[in-house]
Amino acid sequence: MFVSPIVATLYLMAKIKYDCLNCVGYCCAIYERVQVSEDDIIRLGNHFGILPEAARRRYTKKHASGERVLRRTPDPIFGESCIFQDPVKRLCSIYEGRPEVCREWPTHGGGRCVYYDTLQFERRQQENPDVVPLIQITFPEGARGR
Ligand code: SF4
Ligand code: SF4
Repeated sequence: MFVSPIVATLYLMAKIKYDCLNCVGYCCAIYERVQVSEDDIIRLGNHFGILPEAARRRYTKKHASGERVLRRTPDPIFGESCIFQDPVKRLCSIYEGRPEVCREWPTHGGGRCVYYDTLQFERRQQENPDVVPLIQITFPEGARGR
């Protein structure tokens, strides 16, 4: 069956239940391991007009897990955040150059963002449009789901 791009876009818009422009950029702050691949580093370099090697040194670091990840910076709300999150606008400052993992989040979640749901719920519940729930995600050693 042929589905026109306009119909597909309208369908996607109807499904999406979060609004990053009305959020505090939780996802950019909470994950200390925003992984970058070689392709991501090349894209970063192109974004800033510098060589990939310079982008690697300037904007990424080796995490204790052995992965290459984006560097972090102090953040007024969450304590730390991605080096590219604008601390005032709460948006990605390199949107077109962001890594693949950021492009995938959270659209694989069926059009929902669990943090956005929590944020809206708490703001309604506490009758305070500015409240920001702080939620920490940890991955304890040895923990296994079912
Ligand atoms: S936490 Fe969810 S709603 Fe907030 S910026 Fe990230 S993806 Fe968007
Ligand atoms: S690169 Fe942009 S989208 Fe990805 S974590 Fe950093 S600020 Fe967020």
